[in-house]
Amino acid sequence: MPHLSSLRFLFSSSSPFLSPLKPPVSLSLLSKPRPFSLSTVFSSYYKRHRNFRHTPSRRNSTSLRESKSKEKGLSMDETESVAGFNKRRAEGRDKSDKPKTLQLKSRKLNPVNTICYVQILGTGMDTQDTSPSVLLFFDKQRFIFNAGEGLQRFCTEHKIKLSKIDHIFLSRVCSETAGGLPGLLLTLAGMGDEGMSVNIWGPSDLKYLVDAMRFFIPNAAMVHTRSFGPAPDSDGASIPDHGKFTDPIVLIDDEVVKLSAILLRPSCLKGSQLMKEEPDVLNPLEVCAEERRDHFPGPLLLHSPKRNVGPVVKPGDFSVIYVCELPEIKGKFDPAKAVALGLKAGPKYRELQLGKSVMSDRQNIMVHPSDVMGPSIPGPIVLLVDCPTESHSQELLSIQSLSCYYTDSLGNPPESAKTVNCVIHLSPASVISIPNYQKWMKRFGTAQHIMAGHEMKNVEIPILKSSARIAARLNYLCPQFFPAPGFWSLQQLNYSAPDSIASSEGSNLCESISAENLLKFHLRPYAQLGLDRAGIPSLRAPSEILDELLSEIPEIVDAAQQVSKFWHGPRETKQEITAIQDNEVMIEEPWLNVNTLPCCLENITREDMEIVLLGTGSSQPSKYRNVSSIHINLFSKGSLLLDCGEGTLGQLKRRYGVEGADNAVRGLRCIWISHIHADHHTGVARILALRRDLLKGVPHEPLIVIGPRQLKRFLDAYQRLEDLDMQFLDCRHTTEASLDAFEGDLESNNHYSPPGSPVSFENKNINKKNAVGQMTQNVDTTLFAKGSRMQSYWKRSGSPVDNSVVIPILKNLKKVLSEAGLEALISVPVVHCPQAFGVVLKAAERINGVAKVIPGWKIVYSGDTRPCPELIEASRGATVLIHEATFEDGMVEEAIARNHSTTKEAVEVGSSAGAYRIILTHFSQRYPKIPVFDESHMHKTCIAFDMMSINIADLPVLPKVLPYLKLLFRNDMIVDESEDVAVSAT
Ligand SMILES: [Zn+2]
Ligand SMILES: [Zn+2]
Repeated sequence: MPHLSSLRFLFSSSSPFLSPLKPPVSLSLLSKPRPFSLSTVFSSYYKRHRNFRHTPSRRNSTSLRESKSKEKGLSMDETESVAGFNKRRAEGRDKSDKPKTLQLKSRKLNPVNTICYVQILGTGMDTQDTSPSVLLFFDKQRFIFNAGEGLQRFCTEHKIKLSKIDHIFLSRVCSETAGGLPGLLLTLAGMGDEGMSVNIWGPSDLKYLVDAMRFFIPNAAMVHTRSFGPAPDSDGASIPDHGKFTDPIVLIDDEVVKLSAILLRPSCLKGSQLMKEEPDVLNPLEVCAEERRDHFPGPLLLHSPKRNVGPVVKPGDFSVIYVCELPEIKGKFDPAKAVALGLKAGPKYRELQLGKSVMSDRQNIMVHPSDVMGPSIPGPIVLLVDCPTESHSQELLSIQSLSCYYTDSLGNPPESAKTVNCVIHLSPASVISIPNYQKWMKRFGTAQHIMAGHEMKNVEIPILKSSARIAARLNYLCPQFFPAPGFWSLQQLNYSAPDSIASSEGSNLCESISAENLLKFHLRPYAQLGLDRAGIPSLRAPSEILDELLSEIPEIVDAAQQVSKFWHGPRETKQEITAIQDNEVMIEEPWLNVNTLPCCLENITREDMEIVLLGTGSSQPSKYRNVSSIHINLFSKGSLLLDCGEGTLGQLKRRYGVEGADNAVRGLRCIWISHIHADHHTGVARILALRRDLLKGVPHEPLIVIGPRQLKRFLDAYQRLEDLDMQFLDCRHTTEASLDAFEGDLESNNHYSPPGSPVSFENKNINKKNAVGQMTQNVDTTLFAKGSRMQSYWKRSGSPVDNSVVIPILKNLKKVLSEAGLEALISVPVVHCPQAFGVVLKAAERINGVAKVIPGWKIVYSGDTRPCPELIEASRGATVLIHEATFEDGMVEEAIARNHSTTKEAVEVGSSAGAYRIILTHFSQRYPKIPVFDESHMHKTCIAFDMMSINIADLPVLPKVLPYLKLLFRNDMIVDESEDVAVSAT
């Protein structure tokens, strides 16, 4: 009997910090009848808003707002302070009150007329950051196998409707196969008023993933998780013997498909013990209690060499072989034959069709179904195999339950055998070439083998063609800010990749083909059985993209020349710059001094610092903009990530190449996360998991992850599934006040508090008269309603902190920063949702050739926020302010409602803080390619694009490039109504 343990799981609605996933205010007005699809919702949305968006001058919007305020009898300033932010949202209370009624979809299925195929969704094929997914398509049902990061973005680009997915199956449970799941569930939850429900299937450790995700998936998400196999916390003894362990577990058996799972475990697990888990930590009530003990008290444990000793295997090491069998289609009944055999029309016809033999009416013979029925067509069978390691592959040959699919030694199917038509291998190339694996493959006779694991062959063809096209255009216009993507050149490829497996080691290898993006294998109708390459996107040479650009915008040739003069032409003379610098009279018009070079840029080199904007869109990954992530490249001194939305690793690979990104991950000094919304942090686990793998066997420290406290809960829960090799630091411990207290503690040398004697070092600081400390108090007393959840969050910052845990990590952070040439990393509370922060990075000062001390640069990143005084204060004299600008100037009300900023507001923050340069990012997905902005106030500002790479030495020319960028997109300012763009929580 299959031991199927199913648990129906409704995400806890008690969690206080959930990302509220309602459609934007205006969108919810459109109550469209179901069924919902992104495109129908958004095309009507655009229809409604197009006129509004394209009013001739954006500048009018300000005066419009002004007149509106005047109507209410308020001055501008009053408007700002009265309605400057959304209290309800800031307090985390703006969840939909209306409970969603979610029901599983039920559709009528017909086995005969159905269309069915499997299709490779090539996520990660170009960047190798994640496992490809496989779509099993029926006209009335959709299954997806694996949901790595970027699946959602991929589906948007290739018009695969996620709302139609009924089941998601995981071949393993880890960041590589399931990294896209949180984002996907958030999107499904946000669809329509009712949200969409989905079934998720996977081996029993799926439970850990679900436990971890509940910390930020909103209550609207209805997920039915169905795990199978031995309980994740069981030890070796309770795992059934091997034969039984690999019995197929039937998951789905309906009219159109029978789908079963066969578990595969690494051979070292056999007889040995599974990692013994700690007693249950994840009782939701217990988790929600504030002062939960730390289950992964990083610094002390993580460094002990014991960690890597012994064959401790996490439950995540199970993988699954999925077997999809379509039912046989019976041959047609031939009445002429029946008559010839002496049968009269009547009930016996029916009996025969049901497979029973009957007595002839006119002759003394038995009539068998085979006498009167045409030949039946066997149901096609597809296998999906994920064999991640050599150790797993040792188990393949001994799986008894697969023997009914094997051919005999001559390659002929035995009488009783079922014929497998297609085997899709998700196993990596290194495993596939193992002799045992090859031997196993051959047992399937004539089956079509499709190799979908990572292969170097695919690297050249970007799976996201639209964004690759934009990147190529930007690169043509300004290669300095938009370097060519970092994919390997074909030359390198030929050198390092074992071409195809079939050809590399002679004829001994089983015949197979490489999977390609969107390759199909048809299963029904029977006449089409087999491969279909029609959907595979062709490789578009960069030259084609450029030809298209030149014919579309001929002026771009001139523009590119103009832009290149910023680097190669005559520069402003030094005297000019110095002259302005010496003139210390307050200049009222801020743009008059935009050329004043800040001292920190004096003699700066190109190897000092580069800001790489990996993701510049809000809410969810879209066709042209991925979600938030900024890579601060310090070259030989390593790098940092500020925010890390889903797909950050993929973006790193697009920027630096497959190998270059690995180096970037190895060189990470720390990851800083601004707040708990999914568009800012769901890529963290994948990055940490890759780093763990890359540094296996290399002495190293666990990576410091600084984030809001809710993130710790997610990561702690996640670490029960997969080791992340990190230590966590709460943003609140890196505010200026906290850091001052920490320094004070170090100086007075009293930081070795005896274990178990918690000391609140924030409380000690209560009388400190520093700016941020006061600011925090202001936040506490003015922004948030008395007794509100948000206020209590700030109050809690004074709650006891176990110095014995925090101080060592702070010390470690200080060390790590100084190795990176940084003087400080300071988190700044901002106004967005509970526990939202901005960050200040300060470089250490340097000494130039003539022993002059040059101050270090200062970068400030806002995270998501309304314009706020704390951030202005923290941005004083910043070299670069990276500020969110989710909405255009005319959408202040939306900005307030959702606690974001408009373009103009963001620029004003930078101007009033005297920042040298401002980079705007986090654009609403309603601006797919380029946001709407008013050039008249952008003198020191530029807008960000994915992959934009701003070297600190190029900061002086940054704003000058903006008008040319606008030219590049002049034909895109009209919204394309076919765009599948969604706008939801951010
Ligand atoms: Zn947010
Ligand atoms: Zn956001």
